[in-house]
Amino acid sequence: MPETRVEQETIYEGIPASPGIAIAPVHVVARGFSAPEVYEIKESEVDREQQRFTQALEVTKRQLIELQSRLLDLSGDGESGIFEAHVMILEDRALLDKVRLAISRRLQNAEFAFYAVMQNFLEAMRRIPDAYLRERTVDIEDVAQRVLRNFGVEGDTRPSGPDDPHILVAFDMTPSDTAAMKHGSVLGFATEQGSVNSHTAILARAFGIPAVVGLEASVIDIIALTPSILDGYAGKLILNPLPATLEHYRSLMLAKEKVRSSLDATRDAATETRDGRALTVSANIEFLDELPVVKRSGAKGIGLYRTEFLLLNGEEMPDENRQAEVYTKVVRGMAPHLVIVRTLDSGGDKLPVEPLTDPEPNPFLGWRGIRVSLARPAMFREQIRAVLRASAFGKTALMFPMISGLSEVRQSREMVRRCMDELEKEGVAFDHELPVGAMIEVPAAALCADLLAPEVDFFSIGTNDLIQYTVAVDRVNPHVADLYRPTHPAVIRLIKRTIDAANDNGIWTGICGEMAGDIRLTPLLLGLGVEELSVGPQQVPRVGQAIRSLSHAECSAMADEALRHPRSKGILDLSMSLARKHYPELLD
Ligand code: PEP
Ligand code: MG
Repeated sequence: MPETRVEQETIYEGIPASPGIAIAPVHVVARGFSAPEVYEIKESEVDREQQRFTQALEVTKRQLIELQSRLLDLSGDGESGIFEAHVMILEDRALLDKVRLAISRRLQNAEFAFYAVMQNFLEAMRRIPDAYLRERTVDIEDVAQRVLRNFGVEGDTRPSGPDDPHILVAFDMTPSDTAAMKHGSVLGFATEQGSVNSHTAILARAFGIPAVVGLEASVIDIIALTPSILDGYAGKLILNPLPATLEHYRSLMLAKEKVRSSLDATRDAATETRDGRALTVSANIEFLDELPVVKRSGAKGIGLYRTEFLLLNGEEMPDENRQAEVYTKVVRGMAPHLVIVRTLDSGGDKLPVEPLTDPEPNPFLGWRGIRVSLARPAMFREQIRAVLRASAFGKTALMFPMISGLSEVRQSREMVRRCMDELEKEGVAFDHELPVGAMIEVPAAALCADLLAPEVDFFSIGTNDLIQYTVAVDRVNPHVADLYRPTHPAVIRLIKRTIDAANDNGIWTGICGEMAGDIRLTPLLLGLGVEELSVGPQQVPRVGQAIRSLSHAECSAMADEALRHPRSKGILDLSMSLARKHYPELLD
């Protein structure tokens, strides 16, 4: 860890996960436990900070000694040894000197200096091959958190805290961390872990904040409050940018803003190709408060409402009445357009619907999506009734996630039928013709699309999962991110097969995975014959403009060639060549 302020420009490369540019100081959150406030101190305050550190150590030591003697009374000497180890950590000279040096050289508050040094130490411990030693990280985390709690906060004046605009730099972020982020103060984020198709990245795109994942840097080496630029287009975090770099990014921001406002002007135009093929461009949402952005984007409906995000607000799924209220707001808000509500898709990298007694060895292959709903019929029933009740107020559809075969579709439809019967008897209004669709995101479903199509009203292809299950590449694992290829021949064949089965049965097919919002691939998807693209709200105007620039006939001919092509890269190039030819200005 550098102990002095590094003033030269440093560029860390990562994977672009959400477009945009942010210019602000960084805030660092390593793994393990959360970071304390960080703020700059004056040279004249160094002694005071050193004192606060000494005090926090003393208080912690006293607490540990007391704990140790209490444990000794209770259980004899065996167990009390663990606290001796804790006390020893607090007396480790080398470690304490590092903290003192960090306070005086970095000119940052004592608790943050302590946090940074401890995180660095913990990171080294986590990489030790010896399992016993590695396990000791828990003790160190424990003692470090105790020390942090023992810092007094009296008299702090914080010129820069997490409420000020900043770029968040973290080891990793869960979808709930992302959802809970303070909008307005977090201008963007970069993480060491993560991948483009994780729900964390999807949320960043939905909120329209730039993000970079899989950063080639250990975040604990980054000094908090360093002035930075986050480039969500190229996937870069630039620390201490030079004046010329800043200038470059400021003008890039202006240029992007110009493209965005010219796109805004087209939001009401029909999304029809030059040769007259109409497509629906709708939006994916996770939260009710995304509605204003969706409406501003010109989306012609919601193609995917991820209802599992309702689990973020409390421990369990809200009851039927509360759900009906939320769905009705979305349906009313989007009228006269269609809102497709997806039933709960918990599990995978999303929140579980209930705490699992044993962690699943492979959550993505486990208790997820429709499997959970069918196993919890009371909960499933409440959700379906709530959607049906909302359908009285505007065009609504239901769809089921993670369908892998016919029996799941039949059981789900049976539940819809029962709920309709109940509501009918209760005299509650609902849409008797409510369309019911299946998500095609498991290869088994795509391969059996001809069996499923007669049983549903539409298909929506969830390419995020379809790709991961087809090529056996975890969508959130950065180590295999290179192998996650939307244009893999197997993937596009499955998409084609799904569309053909839908056409043969007179139903429509949409795509609601992230692939739908990637305008490099619009020519290919259009050519394969999709009728709806449901994308992050920020992508709507861009995808609409891409469609208007293309000719369906030309895209179909290209897609035929793509289907015969043996390699992902070649297929991507074919699609890209049309994108470049017709809308170079839209490509990042
Ligand atoms: C998908 O898998 O493509 C999809 C849209 O669903 P989610 O990303 O919520 O799993
Ligand atoms: Mg999915």
